[in-house]
Amino acid sequence: MCAAMTDACAGQGVPHESNGDLRLWKNLPRDDKLPFIHRFKTAKGKYVYDVNTRRIIRVSPVVWDILEDSGCMADGQLIAKHLSAHGADQVSHALREIAKTREEKGLFLSFRPKQVLPPTREKIQKQLDEQREQLILDVTEDCNFRCSYCVYGGQHPHHRTHSPKAMSWDIARAGIDEFLSHSKLLKDRVVSFYGGEPLLNLPLIRQCVEYIKQEYSGLAIRFSLTTNGSLLRGEAAEFLAKENFLIVVSLDGPPEIHDRNRRSRDGAPSWAKITSNLREFLKTYPAYRTNGALRFNAVANRAMDLEEAQRFWATSELFTDSMGLEINEQALPGGEPSTMLSCDPLAESIKVLYKEFIESLRDGRFGDEYHCRSRWVQAAAFQRPFVLFHKRGYLSPHLPEKMVFLNTCIPGARRTFVRADGTCFACERVLQSREQILGTVKQGLDFSKIEKLLDLWTQSCQEECRYCWCLSHCHMGCLATVEEDGELTEAAKRNACARYRRSMHDLLVEYCRVLEENPKAFEYVADVEIL
Ligand code: SF4
Ligand code: SF4
Ligand code: SF4
Repeated sequence: MCAAMTDACAGQGVPHESNGDLRLWKNLPRDDKLPFIHRFKTAKGKYVYDVNTRRIIRVSPVVWDILEDSGCMADGQLIAKHLSAHGADQVSHALREIAKTREEKGLFLSFRPKQVLPPTREKIQKQLDEQREQLILDVTEDCNFRCSYCVYGGQHPHHRTHSPKAMSWDIARAGIDEFLSHSKLLKDRVVSFYGGEPLLNLPLIRQCVEYIKQEYSGLAIRFSLTTNGSLLRGEAAEFLAKENFLIVVSLDGPPEIHDRNRRSRDGAPSWAKITSNLREFLKTYPAYRTNGALRFNAVANRAMDLEEAQRFWATSELFTDSMGLEINEQALPGGEPSTMLSCDPLAESIKVLYKEFIESLRDGRFGDEYHCRSRWVQAAAFQRPFVLFHKRGYLSPHLPEKMVFLNTCIPGARRTFVRADGTCFACERVLQSREQILGTVKQGLDFSKIEKLLDLWTQSCQEECRYCWCLSHCHMGCLATVEEDGELTEAAKRNACARYRRSMHDLLVEYCRVLEENPKAFEYVADVEIL
């Protein structure tokens, strides 16, 4: 498996371009009279993002200037302030335009929800009781690799270390029963096997699959496994193929990139063995060339040459367009957020790839090719925020008085990660500290602990959310991305929010720049599914 990642469900941000000083993104004017908007500009135009409706409006320079403090200044003061830049007539005209747009289109309103609330107890309870989506069994803490960035390698104080501990059948069965009895309302659910290297405990995986098929034959259940690929051969490969496993192989790219970090326990490079296994696997089970059930998982950091990686995925005869790639940023010891897309300066290869990604969006090539392996790295690294934003939908007439924060991950509902000793966590990516334990497979998930984590999440910046222009498109729902020094704290959350605002600002600018050149650039995203 690949125990080196931070960001999953939350997805990557946009390579940052705006001021890197996070303090600038922390301060939000707290004035209920100000229009609930965010202003931004490109070289060609000035824009307003209207939080209440989620619309972007291109405005004249004078309207843009006035909107900064319209609502908290009288018209006379606004005219005086902007007189020298725009002239009295223009300012008066702009004031009338703003008033008319408010009245007729409901834009530029100062309305803000009175409260921003966590999901209700009923919703949390329902999800935990009947809609749990994925079980991840950490079937062994052992691994035959010693990747330099592995979070289990001893340099990450809030994660376990490699150990010979393997999950017992007793724990695995209890985990399966506990999970499947709480996912009844879903059409399908996933049981995943993780490690260490999960194939070191193949007998347990077999036993789990047999048990599930026998005891839960009426339920639609998909099996998946994340492996370092070194044991993907012989009876293991035969078993996985027979059971239609979704197989995720950790492969960082060409040998020069991959072998830099991914080495076997005795220090030997691993690329040749993994690709030889893959070649044999695809020869024996050719369905995996086209069935979408073979995916790759690369760990990247700012030192990685992403262009070289992209060339590899695009040209190696091993891969087909039906497969797929995820890129995860290398986790830093202590759980600080990784900085591949927000470091200063950005790595040269990220700049080059991102530039080409934007150019191809503008001229429509990306829309034609986004699913091709020649675009895997760009799609995995940059595409998600654009797709989410383009698919956001508009709101009318404005946000509700009591707004429930919808995108928060309810710990344990989306995923339940079970360690070999039976303790449960929100997923494999959160730090495995005591505070993050959600329960055990024998006793079930502890609702009060989950509620406490969610409260910490929402209450830590409930008031801030009311003034945050990201509110109606906030995807800051991932607990794993806001931990610092092993803890989910208010300060960590505020830092994460500031980073999110900066990234969202950059996204808005880039999104509009692309549309200025090609108004149809994002039409293709209707077909893109983002999980
Ligand atoms: S050492 Fe093992 S568990 Fe850690 S990242 Fe490498 S393959 Fe994954
Ligand atoms: S980024 Fe999201 S969670 Fe953070 S303050 Fe803004 S709306 Fe709230
Ligand atoms: S904490 Fe939740 S949103 Fe974040 S990676 Fe884990 S399951 Fe996904």
